Amino acid sequence: MKINGFDLSDHAENQIAAALNSGRFPHAVIIDGGSLEEREGLALKTAKALVCESEDEKPCNECNHCRKTALGMHPDVIMYHPRKEKNNKNLSYAVDYIREIRDTAFVIPNEADTKVMILSQAELMNDNAENAFLKILEEPPKFTEFILLCPSKSFFLPTVLSRVMVYSLGEAADDVSANIPYEDIENAATSVVLALINSKEFEIVRAAGAFSADDKLFKPALGVMQDIFSQALRVKYSALDGEASPIASKAAARLSVKALLKLTDNIYELLSALDARGNMNLTITRMCTLFRAAINE
Ligand SMILES: [Zn+2]
Repeated sequence: MKINGFDLSDHAENQIAAALNSGRFPHAVIIDGGSLEEREGLALKTAKALVCESEDEKPCNECNHCRKTALGMHPDVIMYHPRKEKNNKNLSYAVDYIREIRDTAFVIPNEADTKVMILSQAELMNDNAENAFLKILEEPPKFTEFILLCPSKSFFLPTVLSRVMVYSLGEAADDVSANIPYEDIENAATSVVLALINSKEFEIVRAAGAFSADDKLFKPALGVMQDIFSQALRVKYSALDGEASPIASKAAARLSVKALLKLTDNIYELLSALDARGNMNLTITRMCTLFRAAINE
């Protein structure tokens, strides 16, 4: 078996390729340094090699597992992003989110022998979340690999660092996405949701213009929309503990369950496309098409 497609002149890629080649890839690793894109790219390449079923070259880029991973559609390769919790203005990995991730980690893989769970921007765990994560690391499920991404391993507690292997892409490039004011992301997401609520197709396109103007907004805004729709669904099912945000209440009042489910699916598809490094502008256009169809169904 041979490891394929890794840049062996790069220290981190070289080390990862060696670990994969040994057949004893650590259960939990941190990839730090470089840019967010580089970290996510290397994590996906690693994930592909871990699920690939080829006997001679991994990743072969041809088997079902490689293809699905490249399309962001492999059920056992999951990339998580920080999200906004009810009582918090900022994106984060809160304890509850880590517990959801833990529950998923203990479910056996669907299609591959291994499940790969990537946590992008893992530096956005607070201490409580990190301690919850530590519990998973203490007794990790045999079939699950964790890849944590962050600008610097120094964000983690020593107790976590003692249980993971760190691969470094060198000095961290500025993490631009972390510097966007949350308000801008929320405003952009809310404009799209309002256009959907009002069934104004032209407004969807106009609201999406904010993403073409500043494409760093797009991915986090999709995350915010996902939260709004899932909150609205919980309102519909009377399953919300606590109060819904005004925009989620409006969405629940004006959109059908079917439309909300469709929109949630659409966002999942769009995020997967972006994770697979799909073209940003095409994905923005695709969002408009999918969303229009969802509210007209
Ligand atoms: Zn393959």
